[in-house]
Amino acid sequence: MAEALLQVEDLRKSFPVKGGLFGRTVKEVKAVDGISFTVNKGETLGIVGESGCGKSTTGRMLMRLIEPTNGRVLFENKEVTSLSNNELRKVRRDMQMVFQDPFASLNPRHSVEKILEEPLIVHGMGDKRERKKRVYELLEIVGLSSYHAKRYPHQFSGGQRQRIGIARALMTKPKLIIADEPVSALDVSIQSQVLNLMEDLQKEFGLTYIFIAHDLGVVRHISDRVAVMYLGKVVELADSDKLYERPQHPYTQALLSAVPIPDPNYKKDSIILTGDIPSPSNPPAGCAFHTRCPHKKEICALKQPTLTKQENGHYVACHLFPETDGV
Ligand code: SF4
Repeated sequence: MAEALLQVEDLRKSFPVKGGLFGRTVKEVKAVDGISFTVNKGETLGIVGESGCGKSTTGRMLMRLIEPTNGRVLFENKEVTSLSNNELRKVRRDMQMVFQDPFASLNPRHSVEKILEEPLIVHGMGDKRERKKRVYELLEIVGLSSYHAKRYPHQFSGGQRQRIGIARALMTKPKLIIADEPVSALDVSIQSQVLNLMEDLQKEFGLTYIFIAHDLGVVRHISDRVAVMYLGKVVELADSDKLYERPQHPYTQALLSAVPIPDPNYKKDSIILTGDIPSPSNPPAGCAFHTRCPHKKEICALKQPTLTKQENGHYVACHLFPETDGV
């Protein structure tokens, strides 16, 4: 039976919007609005949605790089959301992040050796000789060479820099990697190399991934399950195969219809969503997707649907489906 590594319960984040003469808080933006999910040991959970849906804020809250407004995050049954700074530092050894823009996340004035050594110093792991050995070991593991250790980030290509970002995340031997758009800034040909590397590393080290992306096509390649987010909420959560073969939520259907299929004989109808994604500071009442949904009914503008389990094992938040038990 699957064993949970991470549990997220009703996680929320609101950012204040200041205004007026005295810079008071005039309203709040609900960037993440009550999401719950579990990530099992050794699996990859993809989190997808358009920009501004709250997926990156979610990733950062799991490590408390952003403090949640409400809700709980449990890592190996330890409540991350209530740990002291000292305890949090220990847990962060087991949870690491890979960022979208490897160039921005690597200090340009530091050599690769110094960049990779830093997490070990922060966590008090190993002496100088052991740290150096680990740096060289990791460079080989991610497909670079020991002679790269003395070079600086600007001397590498985008794909190589992301390999360095992955190596840095692996230095402390973490159990969970939260990868926030790790291949979005890379050319398509390089994307698959980095994705293959991540899959190989997962098998070799028994890693668990949370893989955040705006592109459903990218997430399919690597995910066991996928959560689709819209305006701060999870609107659909299912096994990857089921979600891609039979998407249930109208938003997921629209997102998937835009993913190119590399088969000239495969025909599919493209669903064009009208209207922009609404502002999170002023979300529509009822179902937040109703202003763009091709299937909306009267109730959709009045009542917010809850994420409920369907017979096919999907979790869907939509009035087209019966509301049964919650997540
Ligand atoms: Fe569309 Fe209504 Fe379902 Fe929202 S609840 S996705 S508006 S059908």
